[in-house]
Amino acid sequence: MTSHHTRQRTLQRTVETEGIGLHTAVPVRLRMLPAPPDTGYMFVRVDLNGFEIPASVEYVSSCSYATTLMHTGVLLSTVEHLLSALRGMNVDNVYLEIDNLELPIMDGSAGDFVRLIEAAGVEEQSVSRRALEVRRMVSVEQTERGVVRRISIEPCANYEIDCTIDFAHPRIGIQNYTFTVGDAESYKRDIAPARTFGFLAEIEALRRANLARGGSLDNAVVLTPDSILNPEGTRWRDEFVRHKILDIIGDLALVGMPLLGRVTANRSGHLLHTELIAKLLHERAAWEIVESRKSKIEGRK
Ligand SMILES: [Zn+2]
Repeated sequence: MTSHHTRQRTLQRTVETEGIGLHTAVPVRLRMLPAPPDTGYMFVRVDLNGFEIPASVEYVSSCSYATTLMHTGVLLSTVEHLLSALRGMNVDNVYLEIDNLELPIMDGSAGDFVRLIEAAGVEEQSVSRRALEVRRMVSVEQTERGVVRRISIEPCANYEIDCTIDFAHPRIGIQNYTFTVGDAESYKRDIAPARTFGFLAEIEALRRANLARGGSLDNAVVLTPDSILNPEGTRWRDEFVRHKILDIIGDLALVGMPLLGRVTANRSGHLLHTELIAKLLHERAAWEIVESRKSKIEGRK
């Protein structure tokens, strides 16, 4: 059998950008640097003497509004969009230098991070990429005021995500989208530009709780009870479910390698996403680490 193993990838050169944190509104500078094979995504708090926080599920501390990592008391918030861009663009190893406690929100999507990765260039390294292949279905669910939220992962030859959201809002309703992770061009075109969204009433409550302080129409789609506030409108009618897939890719990147499995998400959020991978990793018989094969879609040019 001839198999086409993929190699790990890193950036060709260092790139940087700056912005503000969605929840804290603090200014933050982000530098992305090439890293050796098997480094994974390593956050470095340059404002705290280079304290390192690996992007790993064992360091997840809270996930109510954004995915936050904590390592020995040092926090790093809203990591999911950057991690999504890295996984979506097939970058495996990178140092992520940050000089504050929250990642920049940019325009609320992963588009700027994708452009930064492209500006850096991506190169193959000497070591094969591994993948976490799912062998048995694992699922988590949560019932909240009669609403069932659920996410599962089951065996599949590719890394697929089937996502459904359901918001009783005229601009959203029920939206479903299926995406196969692995082809950078599709990620860049169909997922990365989808912006985060929130309901005006919810945003006001977040503000009272000292959250979403950096949020504005420049970095989120804001919904009123029957419409949206953004004058430019949405980028797609189903931008909402596409953004949910963006979040799932980012949260599941905390596994530390690509997955081989089919994810089915129904009204899920950051908390369930990280619970799923914690449960998956705990169930040792549910997965196997394999050499990553070039997927059909990735090989297609
Ligand atoms: Zn998001």
